[in-house]
Amino acid sequence: MSTSATQACDTLLRGMVVTMDAGRRVFLDGYVAVRGSRIVGAGRWVDCPFTAPEVLGGDGHIVMPGLVNVHAHLVQGCIRGMAEGTTFEERLFGFYYPMTGACDEERSYASAMPPLLDLIRRGVTTTADDHFTHVHRRSIDGVLRAVRDTGMRCRMARLTINDAAAVPEAFRETLDAGIAETERVMKEWEDERISVTASTIGITYCEPEQLKALWQWTVDHDRQFDIHAPAVFDQKYLAARRGWQGGSFEWLAEVGILGPNVLAAHAQNLRPGEAALIAQCGARIALVPDMEQVLGLVNFDARQYLENGVTCGLGLDGPVVAYGHDLWTALRSFLTSQRMGDQHRRLKAEAGAKWTGDEMLFGSGELALELATIGGAKALMMDDRIGSLEVGKEADILLIDRRGETHLSPPAALLANLVYGNGPSPDAVRRVMVGGRTVVRDGEHVVVDRREAVSRSDALQETLLDEVDARRFVRMRSRYTWI
Ligand SMILES: [Zn+2]
Repeated sequence: MSTSATQACDTLLRGMVVTMDAGRRVFLDGYVAVRGSRIVGAGRWVDCPFTAPEVLGGDGHIVMPGLVNVHAHLVQGCIRGMAEGTTFEERLFGFYYPMTGACDEERSYASAMPPLLDLIRRGVTTTADDHFTHVHRRSIDGVLRAVRDTGMRCRMARLTINDAAAVPEAFRETLDAGIAETERVMKEWEDERISVTASTIGITYCEPEQLKALWQWTVDHDRQFDIHAPAVFDQKYLAARRGWQGGSFEWLAEVGILGPNVLAAHAQNLRPGEAALIAQCGARIALVPDMEQVLGLVNFDARQYLENGVTCGLGLDGPVVAYGHDLWTALRSFLTSQRMGDQHRRLKAEAGAKWTGDEMLFGSGELALELATIGGAKALMMDDRIGSLEVGKEADILLIDRRGETHLSPPAALLANLVYGNGPSPDAVRRVMVGGRTVVRDGEHVVVDRREAVSRSDALQETLLDEVDARRFVRMRSRYTWI
């Protein structure tokens, strides 16, 4: 390519370009050139051969790949934060299944929109979603319609569940019904941004033969298989109901499922040898550090994967416990959780040891950013298309204007401040592009009205609380007097 001849493109973005390419190059004064849906150039601004009708950014701007959220349950928007003050079984059976199960297509749309806006307005351009409340068959369609209206990329897993001990009757589906619906959703929704697969919640939420058949379908259709492992209840039911004394991953390996198309969410509290088994089988991990930290998991461990070459991405989980639904908090929690987990393991191993602080702590803001971009893309098997700013990839781009960002000034430790400081303020998000199309401009979604989204979601929650008798969980165990 000659640098003297100019080439036309649609949009040029200029700033500090964090590419996330294999060399992890950062162009201090760089450019990204977009033509149509793709990136056609990236490099140093002085070498830029492109001209464009639209040039964005410049001094004081950061150009980086859109973030990737590898674990979510978007329909939980209507029960946002209601985990506070409740036990797992209280919330699962008391309002979680009932309120999300009462969502038809319209309600699921209203429920999913606020968490989607949380994601995209902070620069998340791709999300996974695990949907398992199919009492209303078109509930999943409501979530996907909200996804499509935001312009985000989504890898949707339609989960089929049927275990009588962990799943209320109205939520149970036969294999044939689950597969038929998955194929319907694929036909109606798949396009260049949305893909659909079949999966299940966890080992103890689905009877073994059905679980194996669902996984086989994903292999036959060259798709991913999502599973919570270990899922809540695994410990309780694996021995009692499956006659299995080992761990969740050992079970998956034993029945021949644990392989490269498996994306396991959480993956904490493993038995000895299970992490090595995951590495050996090539499964991928959706780390959910912020939720684990909120729930008090003191022995979080991602190091056991990262040091053994296991592909990991960062996810949030459902809004019921992913307060704020801000993926940037997961970047920070990934680092703080690991460091606290390392200390916890050390103190446990050495009798009488005291916390002293370490000279060199695990990881860095740079590592967290990698997991939230190219790592997430690899976890979702989409790294041939997204996750970095390189020629030929989809133009999924976050442009931050840091000129008014007091928490990012001065800039010597800019990326560390960005990660530990929970990312940019929404109004500093100058642009979010998905496949070259602008979806957020100057902090606001270009199509979706967030005030309308809030009022619809508020009204939906009011209706649902009475409809399924869940108001008793509101402010449960509150220490305040509500008058
Ligand atoms: Zn989950």
